[in-house]
Amino acid sequence: MTTPPPVPPTQAPYQNPYQSAPYRTPHPAYGPPGAVPVPAPIVPLCQVCGAGPAARVSVRGHQGMIVMMRFLRHQGVFCKTCGTAIFRGMQTDTLMLGWWGPLSAFITPVTLLVNLLSARSVLNDLPAPTTWGWRPPLDPGKPVLRRPAGLIALVPMALVGLIVAAVLTLFAIGVVGALI
Ligand SMILES: [Zn+2]
Repeated sequence: MTTPPPVPPTQAPYQNPYQSAPYRTPHPAYGPPGAVPVPAPIVPLCQVCGAGPAARVSVRGHQGMIVMMRFLRHQGVFCKTCGTAIFRGMQTDTLMLGWWGPLSAFITPVTLLVNLLSARSVLNDLPAPTTWGWRPPLDPGKPVLRRPAGLIALVPMALVGLIVAAVLTLFAIGVVGALI
């Protein structure tokens, strides 16, 4: 009968004694014996106020300056309240300052629409904050069209709409005239 060769002692992998456990791992001493610690899901927090849940939001803005223009973008991880405040602020500024240039008059409605389809829909799907942050959230204020700036901006918006409608009408008349 042969005896198995002695197994060499395996060396334990080096562990950094200063390595701290990740913050989201619960303390193993408090768990029931034998339980596998389940890492808590990582909930993104608002970068403005620290409340959660939060989501990545990108809000665009536009400023027309006759011959020059500025494309603005405010993006980050925001809770519903702070995100709504940033969205309304950018939409209001774009409504007031966006139209003042020949190209800007057409870029502005596109910017407003993109914000409605992207940022607004993300914020609509985001539930209201359920945890407190480190500071109060931003004040979302009134909806854009209930602000004076939103109402004033309806004038250039209507003018651009009329111009587009007139161009389309002339184009349609031209196409119909060419066919006759
Ligand atoms: Zn917030």
